[in-house]
Amino acid sequence: MLISIVAPCYNEEDVIERFHEQVQKIANELLPLGHDMEFVYIDDGSRDRTLPLLSRLADRDARVRYVSFSRNFGKEAALLAGLKHATGDAVIVMDADLQHPPELIKRMVELRGEGYDQVIARRTRQGDRLTRTLTARLYYRLVNRLVDVELVDGVGDFRLMSRRVVDAIVNLTEYNRFSKGLFAWVGFPSTTFEYENAVREHGSSSWSFRSLLNYGLDGLLSFNNRPLRAALYLGMTLLALAGAYTAWIVGAAMVNGVQTPGYVTIITAVTALAGVQMIMLGVIGEYTGRIYYEVKGRPHFLVKATNVDRTEDRSRGT
Ligand code: UDP
Ligand code: MG
Repeated sequence: MLISIVAPCYNEEDVIERFHEQVQKIANELLPLGHDMEFVYIDDGSRDRTLPLLSRLADRDARVRYVSFSRNFGKEAALLAGLKHATGDAVIVMDADLQHPPELIKRMVELRGEGYDQVIARRTRQGDRLTRTLTARLYYRLVNRLVDVELVDGVGDFRLMSRRVVDAIVNLTEYNRFSKGLFAWVGFPSTTFEYENAVREHGSSSWSFRSLLNYGLDGLLSFNNRPLRAALYLGMTLLALAGAYTAWIVGAAMVNGVQTPGYVTIITAVTALAGVQMIMLGVIGEYTGRIYYEVKGRPHFLVKATNVDRTEDRSRGT
């Protein structure tokens, strides 16, 4: 079995060589078991020495294929490029920052041998800040009520996929890629095992609170139109409440006569309703914006440098 390791790299000059050493070691251990390995590294427009380091790795190790983007296109695009360029019978996606322990590769390959199409590593949130753990838990509870596919906390991109899963993912050509959801959407027999979270040793996570928030919203919005439905229900509920309140005021006016004061009520009603309407407009806008991006049909990434033979890719029909 040929196993492809796909690793997106964005400013990983500190770890990329160590990463390669470690996966190489695993490759040597898997070789006697009849498994070959190739390494697909995607340089996502790094601004440091990641690209020269990758091309040096490729010079020294013929199993290394690298693709370098013309600018930073984001991890999702890097993942897609990696999956497109991987030729293995099974593909393992992992971060280049050594937060995904390479030793687990053996476990994954073993489980693949048992017939699973997706072998998913689920990290425990040990060592994470409590606030992040709690927000994540809350988020997944909410999101799973709203979307069709089931998203699991701690499950990320670190996983092994069989060829048919990879082909299925590559054929999902949508511009807004929420990999976590795409993997779940594809399905096929899957199994999950847990591993302990490793703390990042070098560099820093490129996730800010804001990017996490945006990622969360993407997860909510990219799978179905239930948020639109929710807006509809919210509107109907508000209308019902407003009707009841009006009836009450009219009733009170008939019993007690007209009472002019009501400034607070009016201001509250006007501002609250304006807020709700803005939110609904925002939801509609999000979907329209997504349609706009999809319709443009732009490529997910542009390649600046690679050692991968283009014709080889074309013959594979990717
Ligand atoms: N990454 C990437 N493009 C980006 C940001 C990150 O290819 O724009 C890569 C990064 O090099 C790493 C992986 O994605 O291999 C995970 O990134 P990071 O460690 O910043 O995220 P976290 O581990 O906090 O989820
Ligand atoms: Mg990381």
